This record gives sequence, C-alpha cells and structure tokens, in this order.
Amino acid sequence: MRIAISLGIVIFVSIALGYVFHSFLGFIETFILATFLQLLAPTIWNTISKHRQTIAQLEGEINYLVELNTAVVDCPCGNHQFEEIIVITDNTIELTCPACKGVYKLLPSVKTILTTEPLDIEEDVKIGTEL
Ligand SMILES: [Zn+2]
Repeated sequence: MRIAISLGIVIFVSIALGYVFHSFLGFIETFILATFLQLLAPTIWNTISKHRQTIAQLEGEINYLVELNTAVVDCPCGNHQFEEIIVITDNTIELTCPACKGVYKLLPSVKTILTTEPLDIEEDVKIGTEL
C-alpha cells in the first residue's frame, strides 16, 4: 500500500513537472527525467549521507591523533610556547619563536622507565628446592 502511494506521488509530481516544463523540454521528456530523478534521489541521498558519516568519523579519529601528538613546549626565552604536532620518527621540525626570533628544532625523546620490580627467578628456584 505504501509503495502504491509513493509511486502515485512520484507519478503525480512527474506529471506536474511535465506540465510546468512542457514548453521547454516537452512533456514526455520532463516526465521521464522527473521520474528517474525521484526514483534515484533516495539512493543518491543515502550514499552521500553514508560517505559524510564515514568522513566525519575519520575526521574525529584524525583530530584525536593530532591531539595525542601535539606537544606544548616553552621557548628558552620564556616569552612563547610552541604548540606543535610531534612525530617521534621525524626530527625535521624547525620553528621560529615570534618573541625572540630564534629558530628552534623540536626533538622528541623516548626513554625507558622501569615500572615493575623484576623477580629474581634463580633465587626463588633455590628457595623452592631447599624446602
Ligand atoms: Zn623565544
């Protein structure tokens, strides 16, 4: 029933457009064009909105990564803060401080910090065999 109503609306709109534009394009041509456009419009609209969602999702992920990799560093002159995206494998970032006009290179550094207490396994094994 809903399909019949939808088709009825499509045909009605096509007839109306055909009547309005019959002097420019011809009734049949306008009718066929309007029908095609009305039938294709939902598919085109769905495709566009799906791609928009994907693009918005990717933008969100990119912004999150940019936020994670953005470092705020004080200039040695003390009058400016550099806010720059730092990539660990890239050491070519050179920035000019607007306050002291010095050109600075921002070098990321990676350190290892022990966060667990290593177990002395040999000592544990000795205690185990003695018991
Ligand atoms: Zn400076």
